[in-house]
Amino acid sequence: MTNTIRLGLVGYGNIGKSAEAAIEAFPDMEGVAVFTRRNPETLNSKLPAVSIDQILEYKDQIDVLILCGGSATDLPEQGPSLAKHFSTIDSYDNHGEIPSYFSAIDASAKENGNTSVISVGWDPGLFSMNRVLFDSVLPSGKTYTFWGKGLSQGHSDAIRRVAGVKKGVQYTVPIEEALDEVRSGSQPSLSAKEQHERVCYIVAEENADKEKIEQTIKTMPNYFEPYQTTVHFIDEETFENEHQKMPHGGFVIRTGESALENQQRMEFQLKLESNPDFTSSILVTYARAVMKLKEEGKTGAFSVLDIPLSYLSDKTPEQLRKDFL
Ligand code: NDP
Repeated sequence: MTNTIRLGLVGYGNIGKSAEAAIEAFPDMEGVAVFTRRNPETLNSKLPAVSIDQILEYKDQIDVLILCGGSATDLPEQGPSLAKHFSTIDSYDNHGEIPSYFSAIDASAKENGNTSVISVGWDPGLFSMNRVLFDSVLPSGKTYTFWGKGLSQGHSDAIRRVAGVKKGVQYTVPIEEALDEVRSGSQPSLSAKEQHERVCYIVAEENADKEKIEQTIKTMPNYFEPYQTTVHFIDEETFENEHQKMPHGGFVIRTGESALENQQRMEFQLKLESNPDFTSSILVTYARAVMKLKEEGKTGAFSVLDIPLSYLSDKTPEQLRKDFL
């Protein structure tokens, strides 16, 4: 590949901001603009901020668009409509809806000769790749996914809505005993609540009834009630110092039996200080894959499961064999 890959970013939330910063670490990439639904002047981005209404004017200046919108409502609308005009990458993470999202993107992209990679990130993404790898090489076994320690936006929003809570965050944490049990190879049947606990850090309003806050959180249906939940009250300074990042990560573990009744265990772990910074770095990496697929004349939608690992690198296949095999 000789030319720099020219990237456009759609949406300037956590992932959009991180993607803008991530591009700088990739010498073969260049950011062109950030496209937003908001007034571009309010964005404070380093790249030029442009109204999404003008995006088609940039068709010839952009090789790949990275869609940084949310999975709930942004991507189902923006994904198929932008795949008509650009090659795209997104981090759509609504696992149950991925097949229909894939079909919608595939139709738009194919019809217009574009190439899109969907559901890029770590889960779905790197975790999915490991689940497939583990399942394929050890057919007789069981795979488990644990998430955390990680900040959950949805649960943090829920606790902030409780009366008397000034500030709050919620971390999903894998239960150590469950991890140990899985690693032992006993292949237990575990529900989500038997695998994860919820830990909350709260700054309470002055004179708030802390006991009531704790009770309200612990009995909140679906969000907390079925889980082992711990609530810590902390002061505002500690909150500001220790709970501003968005850590995440987790484990994919498969145990099973290979030939001759030998017990085998495979494990992939991520420990992320910043979820958006890591996710956006993966999104940017996949621009290389899109360019290689385009060079091969491949159009339509792809997932991380369809793309050879060598397509992610800026090194040649010869160099990769020398350095990493
Ligand atoms: P945000 O809520 O921060 O941003 C989503 C969109 O909301 C932005 O693109 C932006 O669009 C708009 N927005 C952001 N901030 C504001 C604001 N202050 N006021 C008004 N609108 C705003 O979501 P994230 O960036 O945290 O996450 C995006 C998606 O990434 C998630 O929904 C998830 O699906 C996915 N993800 C996937 C992962 C994976 O491993 N596969 C991991 C992590 C995330 P605009 O600029 O047009 O207004």
